Amino acid sequence: MRRAKIVATLGPALDDPVRLRAAIDAGADVFRFNFSHGDLEEHRERLRLVRELGEEAGRVVGTLGDLQGPKIRLGDVPDGGVTLTEGAEAVLVAGAASLPATADEDGTPLLPVVYPALADDVTAGSLILIDDGSLRLTVESSDPVTRRVRTRVVVGGVATARKGVNLPGVQVSAPSMTDKDREDLTRMVELGVDWVALSFVRRVEDVLEVRALIDQLGGQQPVIAKLERPEALDDLEAIVAASDAIMVARGDLGVEIGPERVPAIQKEIIDLANRLGRPVITATEMLDSMIRSPRPTRAEASDVANAVFDGTDALMLSGETAAGRYPVEAVRTMARIIEVAESSGGRVREVWPDTAHELGRSVAKSATQIAEEVDAVAILVFSLSGASVQLVSKYRPHQRIVGLTPDERALRRFALMWGTDGAIVPTEDRSLDLMRSADAVCRAGGIGRVGDRVVIVAGVPGGLGGTNRVIVHELGDESNLTVAGR
Ligand code: PEP
Repeated sequence: MRRAKIVATLGPALDDPVRLRAAIDAGADVFRFNFSHGDLEEHRERLRLVRELGEEAGRVVGTLGDLQGPKIRLGDVPDGGVTLTEGAEAVLVAGAASLPATADEDGTPLLPVVYPALADDVTAGSLILIDDGSLRLTVESSDPVTRRVRTRVVVGGVATARKGVNLPGVQVSAPSMTDKDREDLTRMVELGVDWVALSFVRRVEDVLEVRALIDQLGGQQPVIAKLERPEALDDLEAIVAASDAIMVARGDLGVEIGPERVPAIQKEIIDLANRLGRPVITATEMLDSMIRSPRPTRAEASDVANAVFDGTDALMLSGETAAGRYPVEAVRTMARIIEVAESSGGRVREVWPDTAHELGRSVAKSATQIAEEVDAVAILVFSLSGASVQLVSKYRPHQRIVGLTPDERALRRFALMWGTDGAIVPTEDRSLDLMRSADAVCRAGGIGRVGDRVVIVAGVPGGLGGTNRVIVHELGDESNLTVAGR
């Protein structure tokens, strides 16, 4: 039984319904809709297909809409790109989607950069990285009036259209939500994705702003803060606390702070998310070579296993499933590495949420402890929003966790939570009904046998706080409900 979840990014490689279904069968738990690419109709069709095929497969599959955020990119350049020569000069023109020429009159290469405030934000000595850091330039001078930034090429190469631009160490003045993000967020809420991820979060206010916008739009989507900017690391605890979940977005993070710092920061973020009770996704280049090859490298297998050992809730595939040649194999390979890592015994770092003065956390922790002591086969958590399910998941019980909710949206959110399956049940208040419901769910989901013990976690409406009840129950055989599980 695999506990850590798999997030697979959608793209042309999974557009074929047969492949998409195979990816679901291979273990994809959540699909990421990357709004940096694709149009609304594409996203709508993909969402319809994901839901339809998930149902057909009898799996609860979640969806995650990823906002592009203030990603800085080159504009369009002619096919073949613009060559930058080491030691020579190059000029970047800010706020330009394209330029009439690829060089000045004196032959200096010219590159358009879509971000309008580039010349305001950088100063002499600033570093500019293009295409995930494969091209490096240092700024010699910048002129906010002409919007030209004169640079010296430190590492040359060919700059092609729309490649990403990073400005490590520069305070980027762009707002955290661009106009495109606002429009995309409206679409995400309309489409009813289950999670919204915000790229390039810099401070707590960025998370609060997107949450307020979702609220205004009448949505209920929880917010995932993507940690990829160095400024976010200065305010990490507050950002994690303000978010519903966290992504260690190692791609841009590695370009910004240097790849050598990523492993330790990954551990720090995962520990913090676990201590604060937030799901955490580890992302990017996990099986990168599988974009081209049916087998991963040993280093990639180690990276996936080490993220599991670090205590991550979920692991993400990006180009591997969006545009790679082996998207289904990548999901299957990731699932296998996770399973073997999890069964290799005792290496997963356990950082449990602090329980002081937190009723829900105390109940979740006690339920986990009781489940262990009474040899329960599962922990069944009745929850409207899914918050208590998430907490139980954070105590990493050995037992199966089943989140039970009357709400389809909460059910699909369980897909991201470590070790958690889900089922739809009617709201129950009385202990007897909760036990009957538990019997039915376990029978339909093939969980345990009559006479096995389960632990039920629930709340007494109107009682103290939300989740305040733990019941140890022996499974009976009454059933008239259906269950959707993995
Ligand atoms: C990343 O940079 O690691 C990341 C997950 O962001 P994206 O794939 O959206 O660029």
